[in-house]
Amino acid sequence: MGRWGDEDVSARLTVDLDAVVENYRRIESTSAPAAVASVVKANAYGLGAIAVSGALYAAGCRRFFTAQLGEALALRNALPDDATFYVLNGLWPGTEIEAAQAGIVPVLNSLDQVRRWRRVAASWGGRLSAILQIDSGMSRLGLTREDVRVLAGDPDLLSGFEVQFVMTHLALADTPGSCWNDIQLATFEKLSNLLPAIPRSFANSAAALTRPQRPGDLVRAGIGLYGGQAIASGPNPMRRVVDLSARVLQVRDVPANTGVGYGMTHVTRAPARIATIAVGYADGWPRRLGGRGAAFLDGRRLPVVGRISMDSMTLDVTDLPRSALDAGDFVELLGENQSLEDVAAQAGTISYEILTNLGPRLDRTYARYGAGPLDGRVYA
Ligand SMILES: *Cc1c(COP(=O)(O)O)cnc(C)c1O
Repeated sequence: MGRWGDEDVSARLTVDLDAVVENYRRIESTSAPAAVASVVKANAYGLGAIAVSGALYAAGCRRFFTAQLGEALALRNALPDDATFYVLNGLWPGTEIEAAQAGIVPVLNSLDQVRRWRRVAASWGGRLSAILQIDSGMSRLGLTREDVRVLAGDPDLLSGFEVQFVMTHLALADTPGSCWNDIQLATFEKLSNLLPAIPRSFANSAAALTRPQRPGDLVRAGIGLYGGQAIASGPNPMRRVVDLSARVLQVRDVPANTGVGYGMTHVTRAPARIATIAVGYADGWPRRLGGRGAAFLDGRRLPVVGRISMDSMTLDVTDLPRSALDAGDFVELLGENQSLEDVAAQAGTISYEILTNLGPRLDRTYARYGAGPLDGRVYA
């Protein structure tokens, strides 16, 4: 009772859709006149692709990138017909008709994919589209230099469907000083110039923010929309989107020389108070953060002690006044006091991985403040 209220919520993940929209507008304004597409692969980086895409659509975004056809098909039904969905991982054999029927636009990554799309398009009445991806040096996906020469020598291969964009992806976009960005872009330009004039797309969030003079024709914004740090160093220009808070399950007093958690990797030196909170590695909190990192209560740091369990972890709250924290309270794991980047750095990874690991058990709440005052929040 009391601090528990009547909610059966172990941890609350609040996604601020207004912040997503504001971040979208920020990328739009630095990239103008380029169009900005939203990358909503992997369930919008773990935050909920339907809610996020819906907010971005309402804000005027009409182009959405997923990685897989299944992701695009699920969103296709959730958004109005004038939204376009692109599938980054390419056109798999046997999926052509399904993609064509749903109006999905595949990113064609090989000559075989080009040929198969052309075959379907020939019997489709000329309304299919595609993006051509060129590998300009990352060696991940896309047409090789030789493939582009084949296309250039046989324009008929691109007949029967519209190539909306020719795209590439940069390996070091988050490191704007790297010469590899210029080398890749020069290769991309040279190879694109062999093809008929087609609008170009190469910028992810980082490239859009660091090359505002040259964003190409279509920016593909992902992490920046979600408030992550797109560029490896410097201040983060994006607004925070995610707040994660976890419930305190129990608070206990333990004497000196007491083991805490699996392996008893933490042993108290003096009498201590230990709070157990309801987020663990099954919720995406990295197990590597055992004995590292912290949660926060009203700006006060509460260090993690002991290993991270599957469903919980333990904090040393000895320094708090007794009345400050009790079972049922929430403590902050991501928010004002602790950013995605803080957690990623402590865990030796990147914000993308922290976000996409946020588990399905977390209670996702979508905040839309709209035009009203901040305390008048409406939940979508
Ligand atoms: C994921 C992805 C993006 C988005 O990148 P961010 O760094 O999240 O902005 C853009 N383009 C391609 C090809 C991608 O795979």
